[in-house]
Amino acid sequence: MPTERPVGVTPFQTWSNTLNKPFCLYITNQARFSADTYAPCCWITRRLNLITATQQETNEYKNWLSNINDWVPECNFCQEKELRNIDSPRIEIEKNPTKVGITNESDIGSITSLDLQIDLSCNAACLMCSSYNSTTWKKYELGSIDNKSQVNKNIDSENTYRTQQRLKNVFASIALDRVNHIMFLGGEPLDSDIHKQTLLEIQKHKPLSTVEVRYTTNGSRLPDAETVELWKQLKSLTVIFSLDGTEQHFNYLRWPLQWHQVDHNVRQFVKLKSSDLPGINFGISSAISPFNIFYYDHYLDWEADAFRQLPYPKRPRFSTAFDATGVINTACIPPDLMTVIQEKYQDRPWLVNRMRPFDPARYTKFMQYVEQHDQLRGTNWRETFPEVVRYFDLDI
Ligand code: SF4
Repeated sequence: MPTERPVGVTPFQTWSNTLNKPFCLYITNQARFSADTYAPCCWITRRLNLITATQQETNEYKNWLSNINDWVPECNFCQEKELRNIDSPRIEIEKNPTKVGITNESDIGSITSLDLQIDLSCNAACLMCSSYNSTTWKKYELGSIDNKSQVNKNIDSENTYRTQQRLKNVFASIALDRVNHIMFLGGEPLDSDIHKQTLLEIQKHKPLSTVEVRYTTNGSRLPDAETVELWKQLKSLTVIFSLDGTEQHFNYLRWPLQWHQVDHNVRQFVKLKSSDLPGINFGISSAISPFNIFYYDHYLDWEADAFRQLPYPKRPRFSTAFDATGVINTACIPPDLMTVIQEKYQDRPWLVNRMRPFDPARYTKFMQYVEQHDQLRGTNWRETFPEVVRYFDLDI
């Protein structure tokens, strides 16, 4: 397939690892565009601001990445996991390099994977998220102001404009003929056409049958007919649902989405596997938090039922349960509740391992945060999670 783009060097190519064994394949082979920033992955804490960076700062960033051959403080997320004997993203990708698009024909150091989080359009304001990632969060943060509907429209149109600019930048700065893997994140990626525009652009440079695509979706949207036609052409398609609770627990954590709708949609996706898209794969991305960990077995029962027709490997490979790391995080689980969790999930050490040592300062912040949003949203954590309320009555 003809390409107008230069083969080989791209603006974001790195040569980390002139060593035989790269320190991290995300650094060598992935480009992550998140809002207006660039980085190799979502966990590294130093990112390049594409709007404000000078050419010199861009070069310095690339050089810095190229020289990472051992732990740097910016990669603490992975190092901390490895110290706890949990596979970090760095280890996971080493075990399965195809997840960053590395094939037998790929060069280490050539961008083979795109991680796109450039469209913040989202119909949810999940409690563990923020306005950084969601237009609905932005609108929610406005509270009640006089001209709210006009401001809401402005938020949407500004997001659409900025997303198109970002997409142009991605197309201009990456050799798309080398890209074998794309991850669409949001926002909610099925809430707009950005994913279709990207696949149609890639198709100008290489057949979609050579590209593996993953979506992370909140499950509130179903694909339209054009999307299904594009998906049929892909080398592989994985749809990852962000789910960490059911019923009222889901409605609370993923406000204002509604469980009955998401439950219905997930089952529709599963039906696609036995009709239009037999090759579709599914995954789950679960944020383990102080409120949902006690009820996680409810969620697992639902998951086993919703996907019962599919021959999946055993968990935890199907469900990627990670510990939430923002204001809502597993260092806020009260000590007595931690004991209960350890007893309850003796057969699920991967879940127990998600708990971090209790941190009273973070706990206090967490409680202030949920009380504040309960007031604004008209929700009530005590009514939603009654079985664990007593553990949260701490005198700190
Ligand atoms: S070591 Fe971890 S944080 Fe650092 S670049 Fe690799 S995946 Fe990202």
